[in-house]
Amino acid sequence: MLKILVTGGAGFIGSNFLLFMAKKHSSDSFINVDALTYAGSLQNLTDIQECENYRFYRVDIRHKEELEVVFQREGPEAIVHFAAESHVDRSIDNPRIFAETNVIGTLNLLDLAQKYHVARYVQVSTDEVYGTLGREGSFTEESSLLPNSPYAASKAAADLFVRTYVETYGLDASITRCTNNYGPYQFQEKLMPLMIGHALKNKPLPVYGDGLNVRDWLYVEDHCRAIEQVLKNGKSGEVYNIGGNTERTNIEIVKLILKILGKSEDLITFVKDRPGHDRRYAINANKIKQELGWEPKISFSKGMERTIKWYLENEKWCMKL
Ligand code: NAD
Repeated sequence: MLKILVTGGAGFIGSNFLLFMAKKHSSDSFINVDALTYAGSLQNLTDIQECENYRFYRVDIRHKEELEVVFQREGPEAIVHFAAESHVDRSIDNPRIFAETNVIGTLNLLDLAQKYHVARYVQVSTDEVYGTLGREGSFTEESSLLPNSPYAASKAAADLFVRTYVETYGLDASITRCTNNYGPYQFQEKLMPLMIGHALKNKPLPVYGDGLNVRDWLYVEDHCRAIEQVLKNGKSGEVYNIGGNTERTNIEIVKLILKILGKSEDLITFVKDRPGHDRRYAINANKIKQELGWEPKISFSKGMERTIKWYLENEKWCMKL
């Protein structure tokens, strides 16, 4: 039985991870630490909120003393760190909070993990730390860190701190770098829920620039399985790329959503591009496949079907946000 502290468990991926893990590993216990910013909602976790092996603390990871109380009370054995400011557009408007939460917040966690002898730590990072690609190729774990947005810079800085805690203090930690996730419980500012929401209301669908930016899409449950593997079997000091092998341009995604919902492409409206908009991301996920036996299981068509069905069935959840 493992006591796992999950940060950001009320957010999109964190809540999917908690629901997935609580079901699969019912003898483990889960401590969710989340500040409940605009992006976090406990409604995502109603299925487990009454479970004996689940506890929630509303704590901001920027405040080390508050975070330390959780460590003293709970004595976690492992940490999976999702909590972050995660939206690139917001980072362009206000980089400071990204440095505070994503860098200082991570440093606070690392310090406490070290102080309280936490046996295993997983840092959930992003492919955006590698910057942008041309038409060909994909990022490997050895690719240079060349972040282009304040969000990506803050995640890269956090990753480097994790590395130093392994090298300098001997913390047992791994880093995962994942491509774009999609699925249930994603806050509506992100591409898929934003487009689904606008399409359902027959509102214009705003597409940045020429719509030809490419992202590699991964269904969130596949991501959760990958993190589970890294948590249980990953090696300390290692980085694991996680990808969906599903490269799509933004305009392809938008057109697909309109098609599934039976809406007209006339709703598409091209808007001024995001500054520093990375053109293409693609991940080489051979390492996690070869070393930990993970690969995505849910095809893009199946994942899209499930995602759109979920948003249609959970309109109330969407309206509340
Ligand atoms: P999200 O924005 O949906 O959720 C973030 C959660 O962190 C929220 O519940 C929020 O309340 C919490 N949080 C924010 N600031 C906090 C603070 N100071 N203290 C405590 N809690 C705080 O994000 P997400 O999409 O679920 O992403 C989770 C992690 O995965 C992030 O670290 C992100 O960088 C990484 N990631 C996301 C994607 C993606 O496609 N969504 C892809 C790769 C990596």
